[in-house]
Amino acid sequence: MSFLPSAARHQASTATATPALRLRVWLRLLLCVYAVLPVLVVCALGALALNSSRQQYEERARLLTQNLAAALDRSVAANVEKIDLALSSIVDHLENQLARGALDADAANAHIHSQISRRSELEGLRVADVHGTAIVGPGIDRKPPVSFADREWFAVQRDKPDAGLHMSQPIMSKITGNWIISFSRRYCAPDGRFAGAVSAAVPLGYLKNELMTLDVGPHGTVVLRDANFRLVVRHPQALMASANVVGNQTVSAELRQGVLQGEPRGTVHSRRTADGVERTLSFRRLQVAPLLVIVGLASDDYLTGWRDEVRNAVFVGLGLLLLYGSGLAFLLHVVAQNKQARQRIELLAQAFEHSGEGIVITDGHTRIVEANPAYVEQSGYAPAELVGHKLALLASPRSTPAERSTLWRTLRDTGRWRGELWDRAKDGSDHPKWVSISVVRGDGDEVLHYVASSVDISEVKAAEDKILHLAHHDTLTQLPNRVFLIGRLQQAMADARREGTEVAMLFIDMDRFKNINDTLGHHVGDGLLVQVGQRLRGLVRESDIVARLGGDEFVLVLTGIAQSSTLHSAQDTPRVAAAMAARVLAALGEPYFVDGHELHSTPSIGIGAFPHDGTDPDTLMKNADAAMYHAKSAGRNNFQFFTAAMNQASAERLQLEVGLRGAIERGELFLHYQPQVDVASSQVVGLEALLRWRHPELGLVPPLKFITIAEDTGQIEAIGAWVLEQALAQVARWRAAHWPTLRVAVNLSAQQLRTDGFVPLVAQALQRHGLSGQALELEITESVAMRDPVRTGEMLRGLRSHGVALAIDDFGTGHSSLAYLKQLPLSCLKLDRSFVMDIEHDANDAAICTATIQMAHSLGLGVVAEGVETAVQLEFLRRLGCDTVQGYFFSKPLSVDDCTAFLLEYAMEAVAA
Ligand code: C2E
Ligand code: CA
Ligand code: CA
Repeated sequence: MSFLPSAARHQASTATATPALRLRVWLRLLLCVYAVLPVLVVCALGALALNSSRQQYEERARLLTQNLAAALDRSVAANVEKIDLALSSIVDHLENQLARGALDADAANAHIHSQISRRSELEGLRVADVHGTAIVGPGIDRKPPVSFADREWFAVQRDKPDAGLHMSQPIMSKITGNWIISFSRRYCAPDGRFAGAVSAAVPLGYLKNELMTLDVGPHGTVVLRDANFRLVVRHPQALMASANVVGNQTVSAELRQGVLQGEPRGTVHSRRTADGVERTLSFRRLQVAPLLVIVGLASDDYLTGWRDEVRNAVFVGLGLLLLYGSGLAFLLHVVAQNKQARQRIELLAQAFEHSGEGIVITDGHTRIVEANPAYVEQSGYAPAELVGHKLALLASPRSTPAERSTLWRTLRDTGRWRGELWDRAKDGSDHPKWVSISVVRGDGDEVLHYVASSVDISEVKAAEDKILHLAHHDTLTQLPNRVFLIGRLQQAMADARREGTEVAMLFIDMDRFKNINDTLGHHVGDGLLVQVGQRLRGLVRESDIVARLGGDEFVLVLTGIAQSSTLHSAQDTPRVAAAMAARVLAALGEPYFVDGHELHSTPSIGIGAFPHDGTDPDTLMKNADAAMYHAKSAGRNNFQFFTAAMNQASAERLQLEVGLRGAIERGELFLHYQPQVDVASSQVVGLEALLRWRHPELGLVPPLKFITIAEDTGQIEAIGAWVLEQALAQVARWRAAHWPTLRVAVNLSAQQLRTDGFVPLVAQALQRHGLSGQALELEITESVAMRDPVRTGEMLRGLRSHGVALAIDDFGTGHSSLAYLKQLPLSCLKLDRSFVMDIEHDANDAAICTATIQMAHSLGLGVVAEGVETAVQLEFLRRLGCDTVQGYFFSKPLSVDDCTAFLLEYAMEAVAA
């Protein structure tokens, strides 16, 4: 949804891109200039300073060279003066000797030596005669004598009377062979004629010593040259050998030019002097001699300090530049980071704004500081209503305090919580949400924020609930099904275990529901089940469970029953369960109206309790089910508690149910006959047919056990018909044999009476065996006779009309209404065995027997006493006027053969008696 606006924004920005871009480029350029400018300025200032410093160094070098040149000038001048003094003194001495007549060589020699002894540099003092021949002086006494006639200095002295002190070119001494400079003066005869010349040969080495007194540094130079630039001496020796050759005239162009300008002194700077070194050179013409003093200081030397300065400046500059650069880089980095952070924040803000999940941010006290649009929509509050308020205001009461405390505990411990929550919107509606909350903590571990994001899962939940409901409920009655019941039971059992309470289960089965279904159709049956469900639901509390297991089976679970204080019996549970069972009996026993039909059904209820009858759902249900079967066999429309023995019985019952199918066909059923004796005549008047079943595994199964099963499974009709057929066939045989008035008594089940066409069936059977109705007596129990009186009455009258005798069996055990019994076409009552049993000991039983016999007689009915076992009982009954007796005293029920034998024997005994 947010794509469109963002695309539009993009288009708008491209339209203004060019000027903005240009501006940005300019700004960047400006930034660069601002960044570089200080560096340039500092460099320029540094260069200026260094340059001026260099000039100062240069200036200092100039001054120094000039001073040194001046000093050398003075020193050489002084030396020359001294030499001149010595020469002049010797000239005076010689001229004095000549004036006195002739030269005294020895005296002259002595004078010279006295001069030499005073000044070692005057070692080479010699005197030449008018021809130039050395006549006095050290080292001249060699053969042939040394002649200076060829020397330039001698020629000058000889030829120029006003030559004065003359200094020669550097020349090779003829005496020592060393390079020397010769200083000379002429001496004259008294008449003024040239008499000869005195010369002082000063070795260049001596001059050099003079030069050496000057400190010009390792690369400096001090040079003496003559007027024609010829090298006289230099110190120190130049590296270039040719530069050291005496007489060489190589000088740098700058020097030559400076000197040739004619000034007596000057300073030049030469990049390349004669020995290839850059120097500042000061030259000076000596006043006393035609010599040029040149003092040179090498730039390398005098600029060392400056170079250090440059180096230091460069170092410092580089350092500063580095500092500045890194500062600048850091600044740029910070700016870039800032920009990234800003972009990131913008992105996050976008995500926050457009997120489909509701996001809410609170402070450390759960007060809302931010809520995004999705959350605003979810909650229904305006942003202003949310901000500043506690998040708790949204909590739905559907979230339990326990859930909330778990949430906060988890948040505190782990900093995070996820799960489902109920949130309440402004309109009061509660919404299930999937929520994830996290804690934002500060440096001191204090809670700064809570960030919660939530998705409304109402729809998912609703769908889930629906599926769950379908999976857990019965579609017909909307009651929980078996699956759900088991889950709820587990929960209820767990609760009960924890709380020390008990749970009761009522297993309810509707009696004869199958009949309704079969006769009126499924939709009627369904209608009835729906009403059963509604009635059950109306009986119980919200916390109790009503479930339908399927068919006509319902389960009712009562929870939270207080446990009994007694150890072995749970007093409360039976009482509560029995009370509920009674209410269920009453509620479900009411007629049902479905599709215009009035239906009657009753429930059979089995009761089990947790924990006594089962500690898990399956066991408890199985046992309650067994108890329900017990209720069925106890005549339906009642309730029974479960006992372990009953469980066993129900298993056996299942075995019997299976075994009973096809028992007739397999010939497992047969009849025994028990004689009935007339008290007055002691004659056997009748035989009660009693059904027997020989089960292939269980052996003889008593009828009380399997007849209810036959009734429940609907087999009783077939079995009943079979019994009737067998009994009639047998009695027909006996009648035909010896006992033409013999009667057989056949027991009837309630269902047989309800079968349409039962009367014709009996009539046809009698007819088939050629018997009159007097050959048959039908026994029906009290309760059967009492049920559905109209129909039963009709049926019985039908049977009576065929001459069939009708007896009420087990009389005294039910609550027969005599007034009602009077209406029925009965022939006799059968006094139940339980009264006969104690007839001689129990006054009450005796009274019942007495009253019954009297009453029966007054109604015109005969009385048969059952279970007569002793002579005393027989005697007692005889006195009471009982008509017929039956019991072990005479005979147990017998097989056909035994019975025939008994009849024969008894007849003979009777005859004998
Ligand atoms: P009932 O009709 O009351 O049958 C009498 C029962 O008492 C018989 O048990 C018999 O064996 C027993 N009995 C007879 N004399 C004495 C005596 O002196 N002492 C004692 N202790 N018992 C005596 P049985 O044969 O086990 O039959 C039990 C019940 O089964 C019958 O009770 C009857 O209700 C039913 N029944 C038996 N056969 C049939 C039948 O063919 N159809 C139907 N519907 N029910 C039958
Ligand atoms: Ca009977
Ligand atoms: Ca009986």
